[in-house]
Amino acid sequence: MNKKNIERIANERIEILLESALREIKNDEKLSQSYAILARKIAMRIRIRMPYMMKQLFCRKCKQFIVPGINSRVRIGRTRVKCIRITCMKCNHVYRKIIES
Ligand SMILES: [Zn+2]
Repeated sequence: MNKKNIERIANERIEILLESALREIKNDEKLSQSYAILARKIAMRIRIRMPYMMKQLFCRKCKQFIVPGINSRVRIGRTRVKCIRITCMKCNHVYRKIIES
């Protein structure tokens, strides 16, 4: 198998795992976290760049799986530079993301 194929399969797995993680977060957070951790491990092992959507779902500090409205809070900043503020409700870490306009 060449590298392209491995990456493709890894991406598919990651997508499936994240979908499962998102589905389970309300029912079984532990299970959800384990799916998410697995997805992250695959991405790291294959050394693929995590899809944008996936990066947003992990706290930069505690590395836990965080979903807006469930265990993270998303607020639109009202400063000169348009940004969103994401608060991890696990460790209370706040990070900003600048929205390109
Ligand atoms: Zn955190």
